[in-house]
Parts: sequence; structure tokens; C-alpha cells
Amino acid sequence: MMEQAPLSTLDRKQRLQIPPQTIPKQDPQERITNWDEVCLELDLDTARLEATRCIQCPAAPCTKACPIHNDIPAALARLEMGDVMGAAVKFRETSHMPEMCGRLCPQEVLCEGACVVGKKALPVAIGRLEAFVADQQRKHQGWPLPQAAPPTRRKVAVVGSGPAGLVVAEEMAKRGHAVTVYEAWPLPGGILRYGIPRFKMDKAMLDEKIEMLRKLGVQFVTNTLIGWDITVDDLFEAGSDAVFLGYGVSQGMKMGIPGEDLKGVFTATEFLVRGNLPPEHLPLQWRAPIHPGRRAVVVGGGDTSMDCVRTALRLGARKVVCVYRRTEAEMLGRVEERRHSREEGIEFMFLTTPIRLLGDESGHVKAVRCVRMELGQPDESGRPRPVPVLGSEFEIAADTVVIAIGYRPDRLVIHTTPGLEAEKSGILVVDPETGRTTRPGIFAGGDIAHGAEWVVTALADGKRAAAAIDEYLRRKELGET
Ligand code: SF4
Repeated sequence: MMEQAPLSTLDRKQRLQIPPQTIPKQDPQERITNWDEVCLELDLDTARLEATRCIQCPAAPCTKACPIHNDIPAALARLEMGDVMGAAVKFRETSHMPEMCGRLCPQEVLCEGACVVGKKALPVAIGRLEAFVADQQRKHQGWPLPQAAPPTRRKVAVVGSGPAGLVVAEEMAKRGHAVTVYEAWPLPGGILRYGIPRFKMDKAMLDEKIEMLRKLGVQFVTNTLIGWDITVDDLFEAGSDAVFLGYGVSQGMKMGIPGEDLKGVFTATEFLVRGNLPPEHLPLQWRAPIHPGRRAVVVGGGDTSMDCVRTALRLGARKVVCVYRRTEAEMLGRVEERRHSREEGIEFMFLTTPIRLLGDESGHVKAVRCVRMELGQPDESGRPRPVPVLGSEFEIAADTVVIAIGYRPDRLVIHTTPGLEAEKSGILVVDPETGRTTRPGIFAGGDIAHGAEWVVTALADGKRAAAAIDEYLRRKELGET
């Protein structure tokens, strides 16, 4: 523990003089040889000192910028005093998974982006501190098991076990409703298990969360694709009083260029799950390991493409290139992810678009033919439209190509659920305040309700939908629905 006066006696000026603490990380050359998390555990003294940089702003802009409104100053005040468990409890009052949000949230555009200290120096490292206290609490006390209300005889089916689905399941179980979560993959967790690489989040914490939910009474049915194996109406006929749809957006988009069916060409989803997960956690058709060869090209500029380039490195590729059609300024992913990628040796090729994938005589990809781009007038996204430069074609040698240009929703549930309306894109029509869909008794949240976003926005959706489902069940009990 620190040998100094109680930190709470420090005034604002003294706090602002504390330098930002270094967040320990694995050395880049070391970490590309393993799958462990990049960021290492903080020690208590460092965590307390970093928390002491918080000047306890009365308006708490960090809290306002957090989609689930974590009481950040209160949590940091407890940590500053050495009350690690109290800080974890404070984060858990509003967050169902602070250890995951602390690792996965884009803090630079949320809490840390709003942090007043960040106006003149680095903001308080809120995300790492949140992860630290939550980790410490689980390490010493296990995942806290919430109190469940007496059984209500009401049943709720949750489709998809990603962050939104897990929050709804937890909230329903806490209120005494019987909950069954349906998951298409072999294990629960959705994007937290199958979309996030291990080097960003150790999956042991997800296993602990699932175990805690089982203890709370939540049932999980895996390897079951709703809309295919059973329908939403089957769930109602089997006794569900309400259904929550949180199945995300999982269909990897293709570029629509020749050569995408060559061997060695993968969607981001297939590449990430086969690269990151043990075979027994995967469907049979995806259990064969991926050997990317020496040269991998990943197309796309978001966080998923950063996950893919870094996975390719860890799978043994020696040269990994990220190809993106605009400049770095237009990239949508996190700066930190690009920094980590660069540290690990990833090359970036901006203003470049593939126009054809070339194969060898055995039908395996061997190169990517690209064209240079220049930026034109803004398109519908508000970013400058990339325009091909005539006569600028060139080739990049590649043993593996990963297409990471975005996801779209699977339409199985829409096609098999009468009365459930969706936009042209496949995103469900949902009341953002309640998660209600166009069919009574069916609610939705997470990416399928607004397109791909963050874990923390899925948590916020789950919380809102859980409250609305509970209200719906109450009214149903009274015969008002
Ligand atoms: Fe502390 Fe920053 Fe939040 Fe202010 S904005 S209360 S300094 S974390």
C-alpha cells in the first residue's frame, strides 16, 4: 500500500499534478506468440494512484457519457481509498459485466472522451480501473450472485446469448420469471465468446458469468437456431409469455468481386472463430484449424479487421497487411486497436480497394489485385467517398485473405415470424425506449435492433427491454394485454 497521506486529502491542483499511470502490457514481440490478454493486471498502488487523478467533477460528464450511466466518480473515490470491493459494487450497481466493459468499451468516445482531466492530459484510465476492481472482486469473492424474487410462473425465452440477451436473462431471473436462453452456437456467450478474440478478453470471465446465471436459474439451450430448428411461435406454443430477440448481426458481408470463393478466403466470422476458439467449442464444419501461410491480407478498417490481422499474426503469418479504401482519418474502429496492431507489426495500406482475388492452379488464393483510391465528395455516411484512380492497379501476394467489411443480419427469424417487421437492411423495427417490436410480446435489443454497436449499448438495450418485458408480463397477469 502507498506510503503517503490519505489520498482523499489531496486538492484538485494536487490531483492534476499526478502523472498518468502506465498501464502494463505484454511486449508486442512476446504477445504475438501467445493468446493471452495484451493488458496485464494493474497493481493496487498503481490503480489507486490513477483513481486519484479523478477530480470528482460534480457534473460527472463521464457518467453522462456512459450508456449505462456508471457512477464513475463514486467508484473511483472508493478505489482511491483502497476500497476495491466497494468500487466493484458501485460499478455493478449499473453494469452487468464491468470486467468486460472495462476491456471492450470504446472509452475514448464514451467516459474517457468526456473526462475533464483529458482536456489537458491523458484522461483518467476509467476502463482499466473498472476492469481492475471487477477482476479483483471476482478473484476474491467470485461473481456476485444476485438475489432472485420468488417464482412468478411466467416464462421468458431469450434468443441469442450475447450481451443484450444475457442482461435480459439476468434481469428476468432476478424478477422470478423462468428464463430459457437459446443459442445457435455450441456454447453460450454470443459475440463475447465467438466475436471477441482471447487476446482482448480472457473467456474464463465469460464462463464464470454463464455459471452465475445458471445458479440464478437461467437455462441455456445451445446448438439451436431459432427460425430453423424451432420458430419463435414454437417458443410461445411451448409456454413462453414473452420473447426477447438479441441474436445480433452475424452474416459477414462479401465484396462482390471475382475470386471470393477461392480456398484461403474467409469471412471475418469464420476466420476469428476458427482462429481463436478450441475446436470443441465450434460447429463440426468449422473445427479444422486455419493455417494462414506466410502472407495474409485483411480487407476492412474497423475493429473486426484489427481482430483479424492480429489473429493472423498469432496463427503464424509473417506479413499481415490491412487494406482499407479510405484514409486512417476515416477509419471507424478504435485508435487503441490500431496502435496495438502497429506495435505488433501489421502493415496498413490506405486508399486501396481489392477488385479481384487471384488463384493458383489448385484454386487457392495467391494474390489480391487492388486499385488505388482517392477521396471524393462525402457519401451517405458523411465520409468522403473513395473513388478509383484510373490505371493504378497492382497486386499484393497473399496466402490468406480475410474479408472484414461489416456484418448484416440473418433474416431467418424475420421470415418465420409473422407480424415481426424489419427495415430493408434486416434490422428489426423496435421502439428504442422499450425494445418492443411490431408484434406484441416480442422485444428486441442489441445489434439486431440498431445495427452493429458496442457491448455497453447492448447492455443498455437489455436493461430497457427487461423493464418493458416485466411491465408487459405484469399487465398480462392482469389481463390488460
Ligand atoms: Fe473524474 Fe474524469 Fe469523471 Fe471528472 S470526468 S469525475 S475527472 S473521471
